[in-house]
Amino acid sequence: MPLIKDTVPPPIPLNRSSLQGNELSYVQEAVSTGHSASKGPFSNRVADLLRTELEAADILLTTSCTTALELSAMLLNVQPGFNVIVPSYAFVTTASAFARSGAELRFADIDPVSLCIDPDSVGALIDSSTRAIVPVHYGGMAADIDRLTQLIEVHGDSNIVEDNAHGLFGSHGDSPLGSFGRFSTLSFHETKNFSCGEGGALVINEKRDVARAHTLYDKGTNRAAFLDGRVDRYTWIEQGSSFGMSDLLAAFLLGQIEQRTGVMGRRQKLFTRYHKQLSPLEAGLGIEVPPISETHRSAYHTFYVLVSGEGRRDAVLQELNESGIGAPFHYQPLHRSEGAQPWVKRKFDCPISDSVSNRIIRLPFFDALTDSEFNRVAETLTGALRHTA
Ligand SMILES: *Cc1c(COP(=O)(O)O)cnc(C)c1O
Repeated sequence: MPLIKDTVPPPIPLNRSSLQGNELSYVQEAVSTGHSASKGPFSNRVADLLRTELEAADILLTTSCTTALELSAMLLNVQPGFNVIVPSYAFVTTASAFARSGAELRFADIDPVSLCIDPDSVGALIDSSTRAIVPVHYGGMAADIDRLTQLIEVHGDSNIVEDNAHGLFGSHGDSPLGSFGRFSTLSFHETKNFSCGEGGALVINEKRDVARAHTLYDKGTNRAAFLDGRVDRYTWIEQGSSFGMSDLLAAFLLGQIEQRTGVMGRRQKLFTRYHKQLSPLEAGLGIEVPPISETHRSAYHTFYVLVSGEGRRDAVLQELNESGIGAPFHYQPLHRSEGAQPWVKRKFDCPISDSVSNRIIRLPFFDALTDSEFNRVAETLTGALRHTA
């Protein structure tokens, strides 16, 4: 008997990256110019574009957001004796990048509405040895930058490093996300809004850090000063590493980022569509949808629902996954993770991180999601929520 293949609809992933236009022709051009290492012509074009958009002192393209966070830890001279405050509900490397430099990790809880680091929780952890606070703009919505800034003003040696992996082209008031911290970091991993497979950037917001950032980025040498003619030979100055993004990847990335207006418009439309469909059902289905801010522009990285009742989420996820819909949960609370234990000196209580981690469902969210895929996701989710209500 012939197999009937078309009874099972094709799976819908959480994320599917797509070409926006010039990526492949730029890569071809980058190959033919012969400069394929870091700091090449395409890297300069991406850095110029991001420097303008983010109002930054300088931009260094890196191999990942993780290495950009590691570079920020080196620039802040993070070492044993210092502590760094990170949200428990965050990506592993938001914390591990600072543990590598020997910092004590302190885990703050998150705000139950924004899912971003809770300033009250930070206030209970900060002291004179705090070197950095690392907010994540979860899903592309701004963390409470105003209150975090007030906290570091009281504790003079601490700094904000924004892990802006989700928030590129979002804003807090009139200012871009990523422009508030002394440093901020970006990710161009395949799962992010703009991608070159693997990649990231360090955003340097203060002039005083630019020269040293280039030294550490250039393997600890004064190569940048040499190329500018400021020194007559280049040598090893201090500890650094190899952080640079290949110009071949920067070429691909430029093809993505130059289409930012269209990409962001489509992501906003999809977010609004999920929101319109699901927010009237919040009470009936026992869910919460992400808030929409009047004052801050989201970068629309994710759409999620928080399911009421802790046991229910896994049953809903199972139905979605059986229907071929890629709806993972993510972020196991870091304060409970095994890897964090050597770097902590006390117990942390992060009940909101624990609860959100057990109740969140992220929905397929990418700019090429079709109408019929959207409808299938919305119907399957609604059905699964009804069965489990
Ligand atoms: C994806 C992500 C990272 C890591 O990005 P890479 O480029 O893969 O290193 C860090 N922090 C957050 C919040 C992320 O979502």
